[in-house]
Amino acid sequence: MNDLLVMKFGGTSVGSGERMKVAGDLIAAQAQTRPVVAVVSAMSKITDLLLEITRHAEAGDGPGMSRGMRELESRHVDAVWGLVPPRQFEWMRAQIGELIGEFGRIVNGIQMLGHRPPRAVDEAIAVGERLSALLVSEHLKGRGIEAEAVNAAGVIVTDAVFNNASPILPATKEKAEAVLRPLLAKGVVPVVTGFNGATADGRPTTLGRGGSDFSASILAGVLDARELWIWTDVDGIMTADPRLVPDAQVLEEVTYAEAAELAYAGAKVLHPRTLAPLVDKSIPVWSKNSFAPQKPGTRIVPKLGVGNPGARAVTSMANVALISLEPASSLIGGVHVMSRALEAVDRANVEILAISSSSYRQSFCFLVRKEELEKTIEAIESALALEMAHGYVSPIGVDPDVGLLAVVGEGMRGFSGVAGRIFTAISRENVNIIAIAQGSSELTISIVVRRDGLEKAVRAVHAECRLSAL
Ligand code: ASP
Ligand code: MG
Repeated sequence: MNDLLVMKFGGTSVGSGERMKVAGDLIAAQAQTRPVVAVVSAMSKITDLLLEITRHAEAGDGPGMSRGMRELESRHVDAVWGLVPPRQFEWMRAQIGELIGEFGRIVNGIQMLGHRPPRAVDEAIAVGERLSALLVSEHLKGRGIEAEAVNAAGVIVTDAVFNNASPILPATKEKAEAVLRPLLAKGVVPVVTGFNGATADGRPTTLGRGGSDFSASILAGVLDARELWIWTDVDGIMTADPRLVPDAQVLEEVTYAEAAELAYAGAKVLHPRTLAPLVDKSIPVWSKNSFAPQKPGTRIVPKLGVGNPGARAVTSMANVALISLEPASSLIGGVHVMSRALEAVDRANVEILAISSSSYRQSFCFLVRKEELEKTIEAIESALALEMAHGYVSPIGVDPDVGLLAVVGEGMRGFSGVAGRIFTAISRENVNIIAIAQGSSELTISIVVRRDGLEKAVRAVHAECRLSAL
């Protein structure tokens, strides 16, 4: 049974009836030879739509809600044609209606309350994944493959951090063994919802946006799968974003650590938390394109099979802002300001993308996503209100015209020459470097540059490190 393959399909890979049929082909081909667990995202854009409907509900916008509900229904009902035999259409319509009805009841509650409790939102938006699990599993049955839709709320046990929960692995393992293993033993393909879970006492949660990859890796980990295949709409992990760098290449192999760094630094192929549950067991992951399944994709492994190629890839993030803080008086220490501010930022659930400090001026700066900027400032202002009122801390500095570039590669460890070459290449393009941070793992060099120089800098680094020749 440890021949198990977990296959995850992202939103675009189940984005229409046609795409679900292709997913069915890919599952069917593997299920002939080994046990398969499928994990599915909601159809593309459906999670956004569900969230939008909950916001209309919160705002008391009835017409907005109805519009959203109609779109939700038509996207799924349209997908059914061609996916299941005609005699099943009406039954499928009713099943879809039932799930949408469940969602409708939750949003009606939100409308009545006039606000959106995070746990109600989690229960509501998991309906997107439940709808696609229904469609994919019925399609598989229609083509003669035994399959069953499984709601991950009954399998993945999480903490109670609604909207961004973390799995509790021993409890999840127990449930996965109890729910999924018997299906596998009978030759059934469980089609499990990505993205969602529930607390130990059964309150529904979600794992954060894009969390279906994480769901799949959690299940692969607790079930001791042989491999995890993640189906997306790109050819694999690339040396750079091909829209910025035309000669960017697909990487044949990257390590867990490299893939995780790339994900955190903005490469969109994998959810950043995906690799953690696999590392201990060394379960390999393939990132593959369901729109070009014949292509090999990228293999993510514990260690590289080949030599040590130095820098592997460069990623960038454009929608970021740099926040700087500095004590205004020597009465107060820089470390004090820094720890208070970071604690507040952490409590506000904001992710810090890079951080750098100067011991001489006791100042420090860090980078956050623009969409989290307001929340971040509010958190710092309230944590340091007293210090600011007394003029001990300078006003918070915000620079929204910056971009982050990250160069990643295990082979950069211990080679200080690489960093020097990268900085020189960037300055040669007359791009201003504002801050530099190197993670203690020495796997990533993060460089904050002026926003208008970001693309140029990415191309310069890609060329300097000869990434297209890897
Ligand atoms: N459907 C969820 C989202 O859009 C989870 C996922 O696609 O991975 O965030
Ligand atoms: Mg997705």
